[in-house]
Amino acid sequence: MPPDGSTAIMGRSQTATEDSRTPYSHHDTMDSEPTIPTTPTSESDVEKDDASPTQAPQLVDTSVENRRQSEEATKDSDLKSMTQRKVPTKDDTKKEGEVDVMDIPTKVDIVWRNVFLFVYLHVFSAYGVYLLLSGQVMWQTFIWTALIHSCGALGITAGAHRFWAHKSYKAKLPLKLILVFMQTVSFQNSIHEWSRDHRVHHKYSETNADPHNAKRGFFFAHMGWLLCRKHPAVKEKGKQIDMSDLEADPLIMFQKKYYVPLVLWTSFFMPTLVAWYFWGESFITAWCFASQLRYCFNLHCTWLVNSAAHLWGDKPYDQTINPSENKGVSIFAFGEGWHNYHHVFPWDYKTAELGRYKYNFTAAFIDFFAWIGWAYDLKTVSDKMVRDRVRRTGDGSWRHEKEAASLTDMTDSLASSMGMGHGGPWGWGDKDIPMTDSQMTQTLYPLISLHED
Ligand SMILES: [Zn+2]
Ligand SMILES: [Zn+2]
Repeated sequence: MPPDGSTAIMGRSQTATEDSRTPYSHHDTMDSEPTIPTTPTSESDVEKDDASPTQAPQLVDTSVENRRQSEEATKDSDLKSMTQRKVPTKDDTKKEGEVDVMDIPTKVDIVWRNVFLFVYLHVFSAYGVYLLLSGQVMWQTFIWTALIHSCGALGITAGAHRFWAHKSYKAKLPLKLILVFMQTVSFQNSIHEWSRDHRVHHKYSETNADPHNAKRGFFFAHMGWLLCRKHPAVKEKGKQIDMSDLEADPLIMFQKKYYVPLVLWTSFFMPTLVAWYFWGESFITAWCFASQLRYCFNLHCTWLVNSAAHLWGDKPYDQTINPSENKGVSIFAFGEGWHNYHHVFPWDYKTAELGRYKYNFTAAFIDFFAWIGWAYDLKTVSDKMVRDRVRRTGDGSWRHEKEAASLTDMTDSLASSMGMGHGGPWGWGDKDIPMTDSQMTQTLYPLISLHED
């Protein structure tokens, strides 16, 4: 699960200056947050391939000729694009002597209200653990809570993350409605806010503009970022992220407008009242276990992607970046722990090279809806793209390790840039996706293959 464990309630306008925010929100840490500009997108080649969902099953790939031409340009172009990725995100319009917002030193300015509310959440959650271990939770409540947890988790992984933030597949209205409901259950901020923060995270990973910059340590990347005010660069770069696609979607703006009542009912009241009313669970147990503990557990699963998966694990696809392959995180986060791959190819709906379902439950969820026709245009990348990238920038831990190690050929400029904070494109539709990558991206519809290697 993704990545952003942000949990703010945004109010009724697009400005974030309203007071109707929840405590768990990193947005609470802002003094103010200007309206997100709706700049034109670079979606020309994204929308052109808008395949009709009624067409017969097929695998659409680039033509052989196009591929041959693009292969010629691949190495130079990708190296160029990687070089571009490494370039610190300075603002060229800054006058001499003026400090770039990215260079403003970090400081910890604690938001005590958030600290208090997180303490409250964890105390009640701890009591929920005690109720479980002491046998005071009814089995019906346990199953119900597991269902609600899965619902919220998938709302983040399949919904906010892979569908809205990265545009890695398309969905028909019934699936969109399901995903909006599930994402609201998770209470990790509205889809609009969640997606914007996550796009910023991808474009400015491990810099001051990354909301949960892992270079500031495990605790900060995990939950500390929600306990202190945002670095100015996060707000500045957040304003520049293109969100016009989501802002044009009435469903997204409806959820944003009515987020407060929606989240209160779906994330807290519903889980509690159902257990209390239908099978007679005690109200306190239902509140502490099905509501508070479930929510707390969901947040930590999400946060592990920002912390553990940005600090520990192999880097078979790009050793110059922090995000890593972490099986443990994948288990807790429904398949979101294959983070080195994900930051290299963020528009792949599987967020991983291998779609093995036991470590990627979210891919199974999306595949199911593709099978019944509610999800379509699933983006994935070819084996050749993966191998090319492994050869150029992998750390030798790829599954075909020997082959990769013998082919590794890092340029001096790339090697010298290792360790620098940098990001990549935020997903399908970002103008910074290398042309060769977008040309060689495959679109699956509907998906039937099982991806087993
Ligand atoms: Zn990440
Ligand atoms: Zn992502």
